[in-house]
Amino acid sequence: MVLDGVRKALSRFLSGKGDYERAVKEFIRDLQKELIKADVNVKLVLELTKKIRERALKEEPPPGITRREWFVNIVYEELSKFFGGDKKPDIKPKKKPWVMLLVGLQGSGKTTTAAKLAYYYKLEGYRVGLVAADTYRPAAYDQLKQLGEQIGVPVYGEPDNKDAVEIARRGVEYFVSRGFDIVIVDTAGRHHREEDLLREMREIAENIKPDEVVLVIDAAIGQQAHDLAKKFHEATPIGSIIVTKLDGTAKGGGALSAVAVTGATIKFIGTGEKIDELEVFRPPRFVARILGIGDLEGLIEKVRRIKVEFTEKDVEEFLSGRLNMRLVYKQLVSLRKMGPLRKILQMIPGLSLKIPLEIEAGKAEEKIKKWLAIINSMTYEELDKPEIIDRRRIRRIAYGAGVKPEDVRELLKQYEMMKKLSKQLRKRRDLLEKLQLGF
Ligand code: GDP
Repeated sequence: MVLDGVRKALSRFLSGKGDYERAVKEFIRDLQKELIKADVNVKLVLELTKKIRERALKEEPPPGITRREWFVNIVYEELSKFFGGDKKPDIKPKKKPWVMLLVGLQGSGKTTTAAKLAYYYKLEGYRVGLVAADTYRPAAYDQLKQLGEQIGVPVYGEPDNKDAVEIARRGVEYFVSRGFDIVIVDTAGRHHREEDLLREMREIAENIKPDEVVLVIDAAIGQQAHDLAKKFHEATPIGSIIVTKLDGTAKGGGALSAVAVTGATIKFIGTGEKIDELEVFRPPRFVARILGIGDLEGLIEKVRRIKVEFTEKDVEEFLSGRLNMRLVYKQLVSLRKMGPLRKILQMIPGLSLKIPLEIEAGKAEEKIKKWLAIINSMTYEELDKPEIIDRRRIRRIAYGAGVKPEDVRELLKQYEMMKKLSKQLRKRRDLLEKLQLGF
């Protein structure tokens, strides 16, 4: 995997004792070394590490988190931003049929990636067709044909025709007229230069009017990916990028960060020669892997959970009788750690009502998990207005959360109780106002 050394540096940092600032400095030096080794642009490296250092020295960790733990969170967040942020790429075709045109320099892994994409979308339930319009490399048609057979996706090609534009056009027509959902066109990789590549892209694009142009980049070109991605990004508003061979090069970090900085979207990454070695690219997940979050998962989770604190506005809403499932969700999360809302409720003098969401000791964790899953499978509308949840919705939600409908009903009952309490509290606002709530 790319940037292997970062993980080691981080575990050294976490297990180390002694001066925090010195440890931060050491980690940052290691991180810089690793990034530069991965061919990340030096200026970018310095900008990134400057940000990490500033935050590390300035920010106070939230209660319950050590400084070193908080530092890991900072590194995680900044690296995720560095590789493109937490925007989820738009993978689903926005219409049918959806025509994708693959372009890339020779040897970038275009043909392999065309087949990988076809396989990915086939598994997602789409009818996919492949068009072999690489007329330059004699074996390209056979290669794609073979891959197509392997994954059960039809391939259109004209092995004796040398006119790529014509083949592409006829291939798209062939599949569209037969009602296919997605058509993926593989093009020639004869070009060694960006100019030739972009010219061909334009030529074919004018003829087949693709819905998406996908640039395939070999990770081994490292930070050189910057210029290519930038020109491509500027040339086509419907472009996305796939970076291949991340498994086979130390320069992957350089390629990914170079593309990210251009603002172009990396949708997938290729992580091996096999047909299923294509992954949707999500920077936070990618960074989690670099950092070895397997071991750190608990830690990040802890930080994330603590971030789901009640805001003043939440308490305000609760106290004015406006309750929705989003608040219940926060309540559940905070219950896991004796949240502030509960403490406040206990502070209210004369409050005789039993605090809802009180859970039998021992079963708490299990139940909270279940309820969180239930809330997670609600729609936004249901979250904001749980009153609309009827029997049909209960069944759907239960199915989505993998629980029984009774479980959903039980949560709804709890919600009703909280709602009642919330309304009563509104009436007692005068009393509450006298209490100085520490927010
Ligand atoms: P094209 O000339 O751009 O069409 O490139 P090909 O699809 O023929 O791929 C060139 C070589 O790269 C082949 O040997 C592929 O198996 C290999 N390849 C493609 N993608 C990946 C990847 O993600 N990882 C690895 N390790 N090899 C890959």
